Amino acid sequence: SKPVVAIVGRPNVGKSTLFNALAGERISIVKDTPGVTRDRIYADITWLDQSFTMIDTGGIEPESSDIILKSMREQAQIAIDTADVIIFLTDVRQGLVDADSKVADMLRRSHKPVVLVVNKVDNFEKFMGDVYEFYNLGLGDPFPVSASGKLGFGEMLDEVCSHF
Ligand code: GDP
Ligand code: MG
Repeated sequence: SKPVVAIVGRPNVGKSTLFNALAGERISIVKDTPGVTRDRIYADITWLDQSFTMIDTGGIEPESSDIILKSMREQAQIAIDTADVIIFLTDVRQGLVDADSKVADMLRRSHKPVVLVVNKVDNFEKFMGDVYEFYNLGLGDPFPVSASGKLGFGEMLDEVCSHF
């Protein structure tokens, strides 16, 4: 069966936007504010000669910060249990936050391959300097992308597929 790739990250970092852009259609619901979205959603994706199943683990996303971390931990556990490779998505505009570090610790301990992706880098020249702080997560090189601008996908997908 095909490898499974799960996207994990805080509400509003752009998981569903990235998922839809890779799937080539609007399957996941993109929301302008964090909130309740649909359950886990799957799409079959082909990159070059590789096929895999992608999961948007967004599910039901909380609005209050005290339960965001709990929800992220649950998403991360689903990804650890079911995925071959995990895309950990962060947001260059919000920067590195405490919940990112906590979930990164959990992913690192799982020993699953994790690809650290920094979204909303809509302009590589303008925002590249803000990407470096994500090295502090200890998950290796951060891959800058713009999910809405469809930038950086090639490098990110090469890295994902290198783990199959
Ligand atoms: P999710 O909660 O992680 O699934 O995030 P969504 O995909 O619902 O996106 C949350 C918000 O971020 C929406 O307003 C998106 O339009 C916006 N967004 C997603 N990707 C990008 C991006 O690459 N650049 C910018 N500027 N905004 C983005
Ligand atoms: Mg979503």
